[in-house]
Amino acid sequence: MLRFLLALTAVLMLALPMTAQVSAQVVSAQEPQKLKVATRVLEPFVVEKKGELTGFSIDLWRAIADRLKIETEFVFAKDVPSLLELVKSQQADLGIAAISVTAERDKVLDFSQPMMDSGLQILVRGDGGGGPPNPLGGLLRSVFSKAALVWLGIAALLIIIPAHIVWWLERKHPDGIVPAGEPYYPGILHALWWAAGTLATQGESMPRSWVGRIFAILWMFVGVIFVAYYTAQLTATLTVEQIQGAINGPEDLPGKKVGTIKGSTSATYLEELRSQMKPYEKITDAYGALLNREVDAVVFDSPVLLYYANTDGKGRAQVVGSVFRKQDYGIVFQRGSEWRKRVDGALLAIREDGTYQALHDKWFGVEGK
Ligand code: GLU
Repeated sequence: MLRFLLALTAVLMLALPMTAQVSAQVVSAQEPQKLKVATRVLEPFVVEKKGELTGFSIDLWRAIADRLKIETEFVFAKDVPSLLELVKSQQADLGIAAISVTAERDKVLDFSQPMMDSGLQILVRGDGGGGPPNPLGGLLRSVFSKAALVWLGIAALLIIIPAHIVWWLERKHPDGIVPAGEPYYPGILHALWWAAGTLATQGESMPRSWVGRIFAILWMFVGVIFVAYYTAQLTATLTVEQIQGAINGPEDLPGKKVGTIKGSTSATYLEELRSQMKPYEKITDAYGALLNREVDAVVFDSPVLLYYANTDGKGRAQVVGSVFRKQDYGIVFQRGSEWRKRVDGALLAIREDGTYQALHDKWFGVEGK
């Protein structure tokens, strides 16, 4: 009996840690796995509002994660190349934002099924930058520009200086430009009137004194040159305005100042096009540069630009031309990641059960509306 009891105790003692081990395994299998997901803020795909993260891609990922019963920890990147690097260097398990699938990226990383189709488009200012240029607006801007003030200053000097010379030469002449016997004031007014008329090549009268006449002839040439320069300047400004306003498609981009995002597919496109590309880190900075006239257009992902043109940019910016350089967005994984197949499965199921459509409608509006 004693032997039996001893044997039983021994068996129990051996079995106990085993059951503990088994139950630990059960718990860990039930505990949801936590994945590190790299992303980058880009409205309307990834939106950060008051510390909360939303947006089409974030909502879509949450729906996928719910299905796969996984937890998420988001890691942020400043641009797409650094996001891809986070995934490649295994600092993140996968990445989701508005990441275009390209041959170059596909060489080093794996992509999910297409998450959404996209392409590039052009955003211009809303003041007719893309449509027919507004000639009156251009004229008014030229007339009240800084350059116009400089011209006004030069014109004032070119009137005041000769007016005094002529006043001095003519003040004693009986029937000269300045009525005989008039003191400096109002005599100078006659001289100013003469100088202004001569500058505009419309002088009516001529000085009577010989020195005055020689001076007047010289001054008439100055007037002709001044008017010619001013006309040339104004014509050039108006022409440039018209050329700048005429962006209607990608064919109008070469030679223009175009804003876009560092390391994006648009940046690659603009480099090939040899336009004057200005790269920004945040799309909001590119919008600001467009409104401040630092750039003539912004080239970027069509859904991003359309969203801006319909929200914050309404009335200030507009999308012109059709979509070019079509591309698809995908979720990015390390090469050979076991997650890809599972995420693809969830993504397809979400498309089939209507969740995807509902999210698309929520962020991009109901199609055809
Ligand atoms: N879709 C573009 C790309 O993948 C731009 C995305 C972004 O800047 O976030 O290059």
